[in-house]
Amino acid sequence: MHQPTFDVDAASILFNLSGYRVVTASPALGGERLRQVVIETTTGEGACPSCGVLSSRVHARPVQHVKDVACGGERLDVLVRKRRYACREALCPRRSFTEETEQLPARARVTTRLAEQVISACRSEPRAVSRVADEADLSWPTVMRMLTTTLDLDTGVDRRHVKRLGVDEHRFRTVRYLRDPDTHAVRRVEPWSIVFTDLDDGAILDVVDGRRGKVVTSWLAARPRWWRRRVQTVALDMSSEFRAAVRKALPKARVSVDHWHVVRLANEMITKVRRRRVWELHERRGRATDTPWKYRKLLTCAGDRLTVRQRTKLQEILAEDVELAVAWGIKEHVRQVLTARDTSSFQRHWAALQRAVRATRLPEPAALFRTLRAWRRELLTFCRTRITNARTEAANLTAKTIKRVGRGYRNHRNYRCRIIGYAPRPIAA
Ligand SMILES: [Zn+2]
Repeated sequence: MHQPTFDVDAASILFNLSGYRVVTASPALGGERLRQVVIETTTGEGACPSCGVLSSRVHARPVQHVKDVACGGERLDVLVRKRRYACREALCPRRSFTEETEQLPARARVTTRLAEQVISACRSEPRAVSRVADEADLSWPTVMRMLTTTLDLDTGVDRRHVKRLGVDEHRFRTVRYLRDPDTHAVRRVEPWSIVFTDLDDGAILDVVDGRRGKVVTSWLAARPRWWRRRVQTVALDMSSEFRAAVRKALPKARVSVDHWHVVRLANEMITKVRRRRVWELHERRGRATDTPWKYRKLLTCAGDRLTVRQRTKLQEILAEDVELAVAWGIKEHVRQVLTARDTSSFQRHWAALQRAVRATRLPEPAALFRTLRAWRRELLTFCRTRITNARTEAANLTAKTIKRVGRGYRNHRNYRCRIIGYAPRPIAA
């Protein structure tokens, strides 16, 4: 008997869904309706999922709406005329079964090609899931479910040889005040996320809910022993809680703090002095007409990178106020410490800083020095290794971009899925 194979008509070629042919296509009628396409599979038989026997006896023809990619610039109303075959094997417990294809697996309401398009849109760009969902005419939960169920969220952290680890935290949604239903006490909830990064290539290892040192300790404790032994250096921002956690979980690793955070502390110290001085001199807040206020940015710039004009301005500011000049000098001393590349020059600069701070007798530099002294060992590690947390900060920026584009996330699992699933570069197989 002549088996009629797939009769390639123009509509099926244009529709281009593998394994299917277009039965009818009708134009959009009225303003609201979409163009409608009725499709069916090109094969005339199917294998029973229970016994594997082929059957071509059609038992029923259920019709189902499915979501598909846009065709010809707009979405279509796609109707699939499915075949429900009767199993011909007498001993088989299943009496009938519905056909399945690669593009439309069992119970699928979305074609595989649309699902692939949606997932790749979410993976390659930091787009809002709701926008991608709108474009595909799907709901946000559908798209999010596609991402959480299909993406491989295993970052392979336990198979990696991480020598330098970065730990950093950020807030992933707004602070909430929740009332405890039993005690009626109001509790402040700060949803923080901790990002772990491999500092050698900037890969995000994990995103964990929480901000306490306990979270870091338990995350590190969950890694295999060989993994923990390999970590040589951990870069942190100046969080003593994280430092304690790292020391506990990775006693052999060295901790390094970023020069960026140290310089920021020094700059904050200048700002405090500047504010205090304005109060002392004028008994009011600073105004744009006050020189130290007008050129406040200049005070925090790196002293050795100023232009001639900036330097003249700076001298003008510092000449007006000796305390401010002293504080500025301390900040430059701190920067000097950070330029050290070995232990001896670090110690030399450190001693100079200590002498300078003692000589000032100002409270702000003294407080700054106390903080720095608590981090002396980590600063020395930074100077010797030059390991910064910049890559973690970059990973954090990606996370924050995703958060902002999505207008915040309420569920940490979805948030984590979005960050780890986001791969702007094609992933090597
Ligand atoms: Zn069967």
